[in-house]
Amino acid sequence: MISYRSLRRTVLSCAIGALALGAAACSGGSGHAPPGQAGRPAASPSAPAKPTAPPRLAPGPSGLTPVFKSAQRGARDAAERTVALTFDADMTADQGPRAAAGEHFDNPRLIATLRRLKVPATVFMTGRWAEEYPAQARDIGGDRLFEVANHSYSHYAFTGDCYGLPTVPAAGMRADVERAFTAFRRAGVRHVVPYFRFPGGCYDKSALRALTPTGVTAIQWDVVSGDAFATDAGAVTRQVLDGVRPGSVVVMHCTRSAAPTTERVVRDVVPALRAKGYRFVRVSELVGSAARKR
Ligand SMILES: [Zn+2]
Repeated sequence: MISYRSLRRTVLSCAIGALALGAAACSGGSGHAPPGQAGRPAASPSAPAKPTAPPRLAPGPSGLTPVFKSAQRGARDAAERTVALTFDADMTADQGPRAAAGEHFDNPRLIATLRRLKVPATVFMTGRWAEEYPAQARDIGGDRLFEVANHSYSHYAFTGDCYGLPTVPAAGMRADVERAFTAFRRAGVRHVVPYFRFPGGCYDKSALRALTPTGVTAIQWDVVSGDAFATDAGAVTRQVLDGVRPGSVVVMHCTRSAAPTTERVVRDVVPALRAKGYRFVRVSELVGSAARKR
């Protein structure tokens, strides 16, 4: 096992569900058609006029699932001072009893703060979370300020060694991702985008190949906020402000029990970045700009 400190410094933010903590919920929304079972934007016959399909990256070599980390290479001038705050709504498949016992895997106050500050954001939601908090999931998806992306159904790892998370077998990877999209549909979540974040950020070529049929673009990040397990909001704020560059993707959490400082951090980070000329965008805007430049 790695220490919490190294965990925070390297990748993680998403491994929360695997560790001893747990909880939180988000709530917000945005606007795209959900991917269908085969990975296409889902044009349900009964859906109202469909908004522009969210941009995706072209597949990688041999058709592998493409991976997006940030838009930094294409955003060097002040006119493109964009930054995407992303919030992982972690809940592991086996954490139901903990939620039933009162642990909060949601964070409605954080979502309310994003709304009050008018900060567009992308929420990477697990299917299990949408099942636990369907009203909040619907609420997030119904707000054009937000977009909902896929963070797996189970929050199990897609590689063999990922912060102690249980592992999804290769043969079950596609199904796990599609099960999350199904959970979103059942909960009535709108504005679902065809983006996927690997739990723990852990992936390899085999995982990318397994997800090719889903049509998702994998979304990583270049700025680790360090909000997972943090108790010092000031330290998290400094880490974000030190790390952000034009085109950055910042990973944070909307899980109250596992990331209790995040709402406070957002209240500090947002005005500080705006004072530096940054504009907050959803991940889809960064992906769109990167896709155009390729
Ligand atoms: Zn996660």
